[in-house]
Amino acid sequence: MVKWEYILLSKTMLTQDLKEAWFQFLDFVQDKCSATEFENWFAPIKVLEGTSGELTLQVPNIFVQQYLIDNYRKDLRSFLPERSDGSLSLRFSIADEPPPNPPALPQSSLPQTPSLNDGVKLNHAYTFPHFIEGPANQFVKSAALGVAMRPGKSYNPLFIHGGVGLGKTHLLHAIGHYVMEHHKKLKIQYISTEGFINDLVSSLRNKSSAKLKQFYRCLDVLLIDDIQFLQNRLNFEEEFCHTFEALIQQSKQVIVTSDKPPGQLKLSERMIARMEWGLVAHIDIPDFETRVAILQHKASLKGIRLPHKVAYFIAEHIFNNVRQLEGALNRLSAYCQLMGKEISDEVMASSLGEWVQTRPSKRISVEAILKSVATLFEVKESDLRSPKRTKKIAFPRQVAMYLAKELVSDSLMKIAQSFGGKTHSTLLHSWKKIAHQVEKDEKLKRQIEMARRDIEK
Ligand code: ADP
Ligand code: MG
Repeated sequence: MVKWEYILLSKTMLTQDLKEAWFQFLDFVQDKCSATEFENWFAPIKVLEGTSGELTLQVPNIFVQQYLIDNYRKDLRSFLPERSDGSLSLRFSIADEPPPNPPALPQSSLPQTPSLNDGVKLNHAYTFPHFIEGPANQFVKSAALGVAMRPGKSYNPLFIHGGVGLGKTHLLHAIGHYVMEHHKKLKIQYISTEGFINDLVSSLRNKSSAKLKQFYRCLDVLLIDDIQFLQNRLNFEEEFCHTFEALIQQSKQVIVTSDKPPGQLKLSERMIARMEWGLVAHIDIPDFETRVAILQHKASLKGIRLPHKVAYFIAEHIFNNVRQLEGALNRLSAYCQLMGKEISDEVMASSLGEWVQTRPSKRISVEAILKSVATLFEVKESDLRSPKRTKKIAFPRQVAMYLAKELVSDSLMKIAQSFGGKTHSTLLHSWKKIAHQVEKDEKLKRQIEMARRDIEK
C-alpha cells in the first residue's frame, strides 16, 4: 500500500500553531483506533491554547488525560515538540463540568431555539466549498448539495458509498453545515453507526430507550456515517430500520454513507430495499488532475507553497485515498519546517530516499510479478507484455498490473511501461477492475494471495 503513510518524521510538527499539530494527531489516531474508542476518549477533548509553543487541552476528567498519556505518549512525541527537560509541551486543564454526552438528548418540551443543533459536532473544514470536484465525485457532490438545499424533498434517502478516504464523511459534514446555516429551524443529527448503537445500548441500560427513539424520530435530517458497521448487529438493525422508516415516511431527510453499495451489505433484504429507495451515489477515486487540485487546495488552506512539480509527484504516487494524499502533504510540510527548507524537488528526493530505506520489505520488480503470474495462470511471460487482447492473456495481465501497483514502488508511468509500453491509465483501470473483483471473488483472492506470497518470498 502507500508507503508515504509510514514516513513518520521525528518531531515533525514543529508548527507555530500547535492546534494544527493536535488535529493532525487526531487524524493519525482516528486511523489507528476504533470509532468507539475515538468517540469516548478523543472526541471530548478540546484545544484551549496552542500558540504559545505549548498545547493546552481541556479534558472532561483525569481519566481521559491519563488514558491519553498512558496509551499515546510515544505517538504524541511525533507530533508535539518537547520542552528542554524532555517532557512534552503539553498541558491539561480539567473542565469544570463534564460536557454533555453526545448526542445530547433534548427535552421534548424544549422550544426550537437557534441553539437547536448545538450538540452536533462537525469538522469545520468539511464544507462544500472545500470539497474539490472532479469527474469521479461530481455526481455525488451535486446529489449531496441537492439534499442539503431541499432536505426531504429530493432524493430520500441519499446513499453515498465508496472506498476509504474518498470524502464520504466530508460530504456528510458538508450537508450538515449547509443545513445548519440555511435551514436554521431544522433539527439535525450526525452520528456514526457505532455511535448510534452505543446510544441505543446505553439507553437500554438506563431504561431511557423510549426517549432516545423519540429523539431520533423527531429529527428533520439524520446523517449517518459508515452503515457497514450495522452488519451482523441484528437487534440494532431492526431498531435502525424502524427509525429510518419513521423518518422517511414523514419526509425527513436521511443520508447514509457506506464502504459498499447497499446490495453488498450483509443486512436484511428489507433494510437493503430501504437503502435503495432513494438515490444511491458512488464516490470514486479522483483522477490525477483532481488529486493535484485537492493537494493544492489543502496546501493553500494551510498556507503552504506547493510547487506544481511536487504536487504532481505526490498525486502520481498516491492515487487511491485522499486522506493519504493529505497525510503526505502534512508530513512533507512538517519535514520542511523541521529542516528549515522550502518544499522543492530536492526535499522530495531526500524524503523519498528516507522512505525507501524505511520500507521493510525487499524491492519487488515487475519482472518478478510477471514471472509469478505467468506461472500461476499458465501463460507466457512474453504474452503478458505483448499487445494480445485475448481473454486468456488479458486477465492475467490485469492481475499482474494490479499486483505491480500494489507492490512495486516505482511511478505508475514506469510500471506501465514495463508492460510493453502501456499507459498509466490502463494500469489504473486494470488495478481498479481487479481490486473490485477480488472483493467478491474468493478464487481470485486466493490466486492473488498465492502470487503475492511467491513474489515476496
Ligand atoms: P471517507 O469518509 O470516505 O473515508 P473522508 O471524508 O474522511 O473519507 O476524507 C478523508 C480526507 O480527504 C478528509 O480530510 C477530506 O477533507 C479529504 N477529501 C476527500 N475527498 C476530497 C475532495 N474531493 N476535496 C477535498 N478534500 C477531500
Ligand atoms: Mg468516513
